[in-house]
Amino acid sequence: LEPNLEQKITKLAFQLCNIPSLTYHEGEVLKFLLAWCDGLSTEKIPVGDDDTRFNLLIYAKKKPRYSVIFCTHIDTVPPFIDASLKDGMLWGRGSCDAKGIAAAMLMAFREEHKAGFDDIAVLLTVGEEESSDGAKACNEILAGRADFLVVGEPTELKAASAQKGSLVFDLVAVGQEAHSSLPHLGDSAVHHLIKCLDELLAITWPCDELFGETFLNIGEVSGGRARNMLAGQAIAKCIMRLSVASQQIVKLIESRLAPQVRMDIKSVSEPFSYVVPQGFKSFIAGFGSDAPYLRGVGRAMLIGPGSLDLAHQDNEHVLVKDLSAACLAYRNIAAQVRAGKF
Ligand SMILES: [Zn+2]
Repeated sequence: LEPNLEQKITKLAFQLCNIPSLTYHEGEVLKFLLAWCDGLSTEKIPVGDDDTRFNLLIYAKKKPRYSVIFCTHIDTVPPFIDASLKDGMLWGRGSCDAKGIAAAMLMAFREEHKAGFDDIAVLLTVGEEESSDGAKACNEILAGRADFLVVGEPTELKAASAQKGSLVFDLVAVGQEAHSSLPHLGDSAVHHLIKCLDELLAITWPCDELFGETFLNIGEVSGGRARNMLAGQAIAKCIMRLSVASQQIVKLIESRLAPQVRMDIKSVSEPFSYVVPQGFKSFIAGFGSDAPYLRGVGRAMLIGPGSLDLAHQDNEHVLVKDLSAACLAYRNIAAQVRAGKF
């Protein structure tokens, strides 16, 4: 490893982390990246009508197909936390998930380019932390553009062999408002929703030998307007990690819903398998990534530095030496692809 390469990766990761980019508000960090790409070519892949939000494909030479596209997301969960460096670690929002990874990928791409290879590109997506709307917008536009798509998420540099599916949905209960002293005039959406959530929590979800258990998380619940009123509406935002086909789970949930509660599905991905590069430990990922939404782009691998345990936490951080190890790992994967190892 070139002695100052680690410093370069760290500096870039630090700069990226210091620009807030909560999902749907990625514009500033994209501006920074466009400036960073001075001298390289970039393609903006639009997402919806908002022209401040786009995915960014970066390369040195335009090609119909790349050996490898390194891909990660540049949006983060809230709240924004300032970047800082101490004890050989980069702290702050996105340090681990996934701006540190973006920095490692960008530097791996640069090093490969310096070494004379123009068969690598980098794809930075928006929207991964909500519904992967960025990745979804890329799938067709970038169809067949890569032999392999290396997706970066914090996996402690292990390579996922498989990833659970995910089912993102809201449960929306509709009732009738009334004064709390006159319950016969109304119908509480909050009460309906709570009963329904209680039922879902009691379900034993199906398992699969390869993909493991299925989990439900009810992450955010809101509803009603005042203590003294029956609630007209209530909503629960849920996500499930699936080890079986989504259709089976959707049917199971719908069979438990009261007529006052409906299921609004926001996004679905099915359980998914990955290519495991040589020399890496493998594991089954319980979390989601953009990869299933980019299945048309190329065969996928999933690997990145940092621990998922620290992602989405207030103490999010990553070891600087893990970022440089990731840069080497990404270059190693590119070399394996060129050598036709898969
Ligand atoms: Zn992530």
